[in-house]
Order: sequence, then structure tokens, then C-alpha cells
Amino acid sequence: MNPVAFIREKRDGLKHRREDLEAFLLGYLRDEVADYQVSAWLMAAFLRGLDREETLWLTETMARSGKVLDLFGLPHPVDKHSSGGVGDKVSLVVGPVLAASGCTFAKMSGRGLAHTGGTIDKLESVPGWRGEMTEAEFLERARKVGLVIAAQSPDLAPLDGRLYALRDVTATVESIPLIASSIMSKKLAAGARSIVLDVKVGKGAFMKTLEEARLLAKTMVEIGEGARRRVRALLTSMEAPLGQAVGNAIEVREAIETLKGRGPEDLVAVALALAEEALKLEGLDPALARKALEGGAALEKFRAFLEAQGGDPRVVEDPSLLPLAEELPLLAEGEGVVREVDAYRVGLAVLALGGGRRKKGEPIDHGVGVWLLKKPGDRVARGEALALVYHRSRGLEEALAHLKAAYALGEEARPMPLILDLV
Ligand code: URA
Repeated sequence: MNPVAFIREKRDGLKHRREDLEAFLLGYLRDEVADYQVSAWLMAAFLRGLDREETLWLTETMARSGKVLDLFGLPHPVDKHSSGGVGDKVSLVVGPVLAASGCTFAKMSGRGLAHTGGTIDKLESVPGWRGEMTEAEFLERARKVGLVIAAQSPDLAPLDGRLYALRDVTATVESIPLIASSIMSKKLAAGARSIVLDVKVGKGAFMKTLEEARLLAKTMVEIGEGARRRVRALLTSMEAPLGQAVGNAIEVREAIETLKGRGPEDLVAVALALAEEALKLEGLDPALARKALEGGAALEKFRAFLEAQGGDPRVVEDPSLLPLAEELPLLAEGEGVVREVDAYRVGLAVLALGGGRRKKGEPIDHGVGVWLLKKPGDRVARGEALALVYHRSRGLEEALAHLKAAYALGEEARPMPLILDLV
């Protein structure tokens, strides 16, 4: 394989052969192909596209570039992925629900980036909880508890990490085949048989339109099927944040409330829809999901999961053990019906408060966040509290400006569907 000829092939819109694609990319991992050559190829692939087979080969090459787990020997191994949202604590509900329904929910999660939160950051607000673990510990917890969530290991799909770092600085992130292969490479390497994908659409999501979200979902489902996994994708709205809590500790608090049967309607709907799809993929009765949530079995799983990963399980009874910053209400300056709560703006507000990171590796404050008292469709009087802001003074002014801009009041709200499609 000649790297220059390989790059020229894609530049001219031709199809690669599997062995060339593998040789080029694995050559890069061994530092035999240069950064600038891979950058040029990424731009060619971005502009010319990759077909279905090339996308699958790219995914499998990334998936096999490091450690590959195999969970097929465990009962009903399932995984879940979200394309990233605001107030998205769905994994904290779906995981326990599926584990309590007879599945093994063993997942690797990332940290939050930009305006979106990450599951590991949220869970780390539980005193003592750790997402770092060895492969042996991951498998042991999967087997014993049926529920384990680990911080993404750098040994998993390392080629994806290398390529993503280049994409980030060469304006080649926003490509459907490159995003789909990046996400799915990590899912394939993580070893579950069934995978449910929550593709977020709207202002607070990376996919802004239904069309691009549908294409991303279809591409990921095709990759999964090509790799002999069972995959379904739900397209769900991220115009407004999911639930009322946006932050880290307060999202854990809301997830616990949800597992106690007191969750907000939108969060419960998305979590149950995903859990039901996962159960169907595994040939199990989808009604098990609601039973696990309403009967309290999911809450018990969550407690066992926290404990197995070093977390203080008493937070389930006593959420005041979770960090919480100082509270400040945001008051409505007008009156009417909430037409919109812009998820992107709310995400930026929490970022300004220090609840997220602008750059990889930055520390975050688990106790800050926003609790949305009013959501689309709610009536508001002048001077009434729209939201509670949890802050430590830092970034407060910027956060309040974002929150004021996030809320749009009007005469009436347009009803917005939450679950938009199933692929
Ligand atoms: N998330 C990923 O893991 N990869 C991408 O390329 C985009 C989002």
C-alpha cells in the first residue's frame, strides 16, 4: 500500500479495497504513515464520502486496533449510547432497568465535552464512586451485579482516539460516516450483543435536523448489523433539556427520583422506550422494563451498582450527601406560556458555572447546575421562578444571560414530539 496512491484514490472519488484501508490506518497507528497523510485522507473522505462497506471496514479496523471485549457469554449483554445531550441522564435509568430485567448492562462511557454532559462526570459526584477499573474488574462486576459503567479505556479502539484528535483540528469531525464509525468502533470493542442508540436531534444536539440524525442512525445500524450485532436507534428530541436537572450531582439526584417512580415524564418516556427496544433485541418481554422501574427492582440495582464501584449507596436514601452549590432563583421578567427552553443555551449556562469543560482534562464542579422549574407548555407569572441556579459565583453572570436567552415565553406552546423515529 502506497499512502500517496491511497489518498489519491479517495481524492478522486474511488472506492478503497479493505486491505489497503487497513494497511493505511494500522500503518498510522505504528507511526509508519504520517499525520499529514492521514489528515489529507480524512479530508478526502469527508468530501467524497465512504460507502457502506468502506464505513464498516473503517469501523472494524478501529474496533480491532486495541483491546476487544467479548460479553456474549453473559446473560443478555446490552449496551446503550447517546449522541450527546443536555440533561441526558438516561443511562442512569436505562442501565438499572435493564439489569433488573435480566440483562447484563456493561457500558463504557465518556466524559462531558462542550455543552453536553457525560455519564462518568455525573456518577463521580457520588462520594467514592470510581469509573476507572481493570478489564477483570469490569467483567467481574458485569457478571455479579449485571450493571457496570466504566470510564472509556484508552486501550479500547485507540485508532479512533488518534483519528478523532486529527479530525478535531482538520475540520473533519462533522461527517456522517466518520462519526458513525467512531461511535460504533467503541461499541463493537466493548463487546455487547445488542446495542440501543439514542440519537438526539435539535438545538442542544450535535445533529440539528431530523434528516441528518436519521442518516447517522441508519449508518450506525448498518455498521452494527454488518458486524453481526443487534442494533436499534431511537431519534429523540433535544430541543429542550431532558427532565429538570442539568449538571452533575443534580442529574444523579433526578435519576434517583426517577428510579423511585417520581421521574419527569420526558425522561421516563425516553428511558423506557430505549429499554424496551433493548429487551426486544434480546428476545425478552419489553413489559419487563416498566415493571423493573415501577416495582423498585431498578432502584435496588442502582444501589448495588454504586456500591460495587466504591460509591456511597446511602445517596439513594439521602441525596443531600451529594454536593450542591448555593441556590439562586431565576425570576421571570414577563408572563405567558413557556414556548421554548433552548437546550444549547442551558448547556452553555452549566458550562459557564463550571459544571462542564471547555477543554479536555479540565476539572469540573459537580455541585453546580440548573434545575428547570418551568418547561415548555408551563404557564408563568411575572416574578415567578423559572429555574434554580446552583452556583459558586464563578461564571454566574454569563450563566444567567444564557438562561434568560434560553427561555422564550409566548401566548401558547407548540406541542413538540419527544420520540421522533425508530431506525
Ligand atoms: N462521538 C464520537 O465518539 N465520535 C465522533 O466522531 C463524534 C461523536
